[in-house]
Amino acid sequence: MEKKIGVYLCECGPNIAENVDIDRMLEAVSSIEDVEVAEKHRLLCSEDGKEFLRQSIKEHSLTHVVVAACSPKQHELTFMNVCEEAGVSPYLFQLANIREQCAWITPNKEEATEKALRYTRAAISRVRYHDPLEKKEIECSPDVLVVGGGIAGIRAAQSVAVAGRKAYLVEKGSSLGGKVKEFEKLFPHMNSASDVIEQETRNLLAKGNIEVFTESEVEEILGFLGNFQVKVKTKAEDEERELSVGAIVLATGFELLNPEELLRYGYRKSDAVYTSLEFERMNASGEIVLKNGKPPSSVAIIHCVGRGEKGYCSRACCLYSLKFARYLKSRIPGVKVTHFCSDLCIPGKSSQSFYEETKEMGVDFVRATDIEVAGNGEGVTVKYETQPGAGDSLAVDMVILAPAMEPSSDAGTFAEMLNIPLGEGGFFAEEHEKLAPISTPTEGIFIAGCAQGPKNVTDSVVQAEAAAGKILSTLVLGRRLELEAKVSHISESFCTGCQTCISVCPYGAITLDEMRKISVVNEVLCHGCGNCVAACPSGAASVRHFTFTQVYQELAEVLR
Ligand SMILES: Cc1cc2nc3c(=O)[nH]c(=O)nc-3n(C[C@H](O)[C@H](O)[C@H](O)COP(=O)(O)OP(=O)(O)OC[C@H]3O[C@@H](n4cnc5c(N)ncnc54)[C@H](O)[C@@H]3O)c2cc1C
Ligand code: SF4
Ligand code: SF4
Ligand code: SF4
Repeated sequence: MEKKIGVYLCECGPNIAENVDIDRMLEAVSSIEDVEVAEKHRLLCSEDGKEFLRQSIKEHSLTHVVVAACSPKQHELTFMNVCEEAGVSPYLFQLANIREQCAWITPNKEEATEKALRYTRAAISRVRYHDPLEKKEIECSPDVLVVGGGIAGIRAAQSVAVAGRKAYLVEKGSSLGGKVKEFEKLFPHMNSASDVIEQETRNLLAKGNIEVFTESEVEEILGFLGNFQVKVKTKAEDEERELSVGAIVLATGFELLNPEELLRYGYRKSDAVYTSLEFERMNASGEIVLKNGKPPSSVAIIHCVGRGEKGYCSRACCLYSLKFARYLKSRIPGVKVTHFCSDLCIPGKSSQSFYEETKEMGVDFVRATDIEVAGNGEGVTVKYETQPGAGDSLAVDMVILAPAMEPSSDAGTFAEMLNIPLGEGGFFAEEHEKLAPISTPTEGIFIAGCAQGPKNVTDSVVQAEAAAGKILSTLVLGRRLELEAKVSHISESFCTGCQTCISVCPYGAITLDEMRKISVVNEVLCHGCGNCVAACPSGAASVRHFTFTQVYQELAEVLR
């Protein structure tokens, strides 16, 4: 096919033009073989610039387009879209970065121009070898599976259902609500926890398109974004259901570290030592009493139990410990409450006033390290140091421990089943801590609430809504799923079936075809990262749009 390449140089206002001799570049590229037209524009990404580009492509009946402008991160997609609108495949386009990589990195105009020219020549050389890749589309299910019926799971399912989608909510316990259903009140506003859960559950069930499975567990998940096949087993009825869903939210929550592992806190050695969840349950039952049936007259609340061992702060413990002081003060007149903490973590808008007000109720705070709980049977002594070598102790009737939050015991099973990594502390790892905090490297699998890491109810709800929003915008009702065209391809004739590529693929996109003994790429899962290409010892793997020839042609011209 005859090639007609259009080359467009952007001045980016003064950003490029001040430090790159655009006219000299124009002259140089105009004479390159197959270059049909070479033009410059002051601001190519402006509406005027895009229209100019569109018209020029059509007017010259171009087959390939090169733009020399800014970083591909900024405008590659912009210009690919313009090409498509003008009737040229967006994959027959190449962008040369002459701003960040040329104009902005040296004050020497001569050097910047020389480098910009090399990059533009390289782009022209490369674009000749581009293929007009076709974007594939697949049918997808818009339905969603949510695993875990705590506050995060309830809210994720609700948000999906509000938008008219079918949501399946699988909870392994006998009822919805997670840990929150065991609390009397929620910090920082001390609103009723049962009201919150009842309201949320009512709202959830009011949506007709929700199916809730309690006492149920997910047995198997196969498939990929848009097409997951899920087996759910309901224990009571010993019944198995198969579901087809397009995306999955993991909201399996947290468990508490077992303080028995940390002997110094005397848990289980003395009846007077409780975990925070045990204390929540006792308080929610209506009375706070010791094993002898009497209310305690003094209580120690020990923060950060297991924080050092785990290596992270559980974020909610300091605030719920303040809440406990309020429970105690409101139920037992005159009770003495002492907090033992090495640090206080009270993030959030209302938390500081929550702390100040709790303190004003006559609650003591001791900044302490090396805390130990001694004694067995009734009554215990908290031993601690306020400074190295400065030991002290306090006898109390009751001790409440605030143990570190740990991931659900099922996190590992799901991580393996779905090929998603576990991060710090064994919680599901997000794709990017800041930029993709509820996504995982496996497309279509999202995480919300304490399954992602310790947090309070508000943050759990925020994540649940974010996960639902992400799903709603990815799997649109009635729309087929467009697949990335720049994906890996494995040559059947070169592949030896060594499986090296499978071990390096971070997205679980490659499997071994047992019959043919070769590796095959699932294009839905492939992100085109190129790991398999670099690792393949036989040269069988290549990523479309980054073929050996394309990259070689580009490099050869840059280095000429
Ligand atoms: C003692 C204590 C007091 C707290 N007080 C407050 C407070 O006052 N205010 C506040 O904002 N935060 C508080 N928190 C934090 C709060 O508990 C969490 O933010 C909240 O529970 C997170 O909700 P979640 O849905 O992510 O997890 P969870 O509440 O842990 O719910 C997870 C659900 O998933 C289910 N599940 C687990 N594995 C599976 C599986 N394999 N299949 C199906 N279902 C599964 C569980 O049974 C559970 O129902 C407190 C925490 C503690 C420990
Ligand atoms: S396309 Fe890029 S280089 Fe050109 S004006 Fe826009 S931002 Fe600047
Ligand atoms: S390009 Fe990356 S994501 Fe795609 S198959 Fe290869 S290693 Fe996996
Ligand atoms: S690494 Fe290469 S040769 Fe080995 S299985 Fe993968 S594609 Fe085939």
